[in-house]
Amino acid sequence: MILIKAVVDIGGTKTEIGIERKGEIIRSFKYHTPKTKKEFLTKLVQNVKLVIGKNKVKGLGVSVASAVHNGTVLNPPNLPLRNFDLEDYLCKQLKIKVKVENDANCFALAELHYGHGKDYNNFVLVALGTGIGGGIIINKKLYNAKGSAGEIGHIPLSDSKQKCGLGHKGCFEAMASGKALVKLSKKIMGKEYKAFELVNMSKKGNKKAGKVLSEISGYLGIGFSSIVNILNPDAIIISGGLRDSAPYMLKEAKKVIKEKSMAKVDIKVSKVQREALLGAATLI
Ligand SMILES: [Zn+2]
Repeated sequence: MILIKAVVDIGGTKTEIGIERKGEIIRSFKYHTPKTKKEFLTKLVQNVKLVIGKNKVKGLGVSVASAVHNGTVLNPPNLPLRNFDLEDYLCKQLKIKVKVENDANCFALAELHYGHGKDYNNFVLVALGTGIGGGIIINKKLYNAKGSAGEIGHIPLSDSKQKCGLGHKGCFEAMASGKALVKLSKKIMGKEYKAFELVNMSKKGNKKAGKVLSEISGYLGIGFSSIVNILNPDAIIISGGLRDSAPYMLKEAKKVIKEKSMAKVDIKVSKVQREALLGAATLI
């Protein structure tokens, strides 16, 4: 039985390629994601072949920063592909089994297999970073619909004119993401701070830093309440670049959830590392 799988994590800035074996990434390397379609595809195929070398792999799992439907990459804001069947293309080039899925959905799959998700039948993974992504697990299975299910970052939340990465005014991402937090710190404190800096300042008693965190927390609470009222999940699990700061951004959120939600929900912070690659491996 072949135990190893090739895995790829395609982001807007960097692409990571590796080999997974029994829930561990045994080797990997990164390169800058090319900006043209031709170079993007050529480098991807070359580098996957390089990482596989002479090994026999069970297949290739791909996590990509885009909505994906049946292997087709739909409309990523930061990649040179539009409605492109990446799964079919890679399958033909590499002559191995290939599966392609949205990155936040891969995070959710990694959480399901290796994290808090093991304890729940139904949960929503919230990838809280510069933007906000999401993945929905129902009865231990990923809910994908037509490729854009779980795009919780774009739930309309406020009548603010503040925009998200896709240009929506007042969506969840526009109001509660890492980028929103930096903007709010500038407004309240006169200078841009990142989440971990605000957490440190707040711990030392800086009231303004605490106010920024609490305001963002309130918006997280509204977004989470929408999730609870639509899906009634057992848990909301926070992952992404802001996860270390997340425990300090939940007080107000929990209050808001109590006020606005029809049901109770567990809020957890993910401990799974390398979740894009590990999640991609579970596709194979
Ligand atoms: Zn949006």
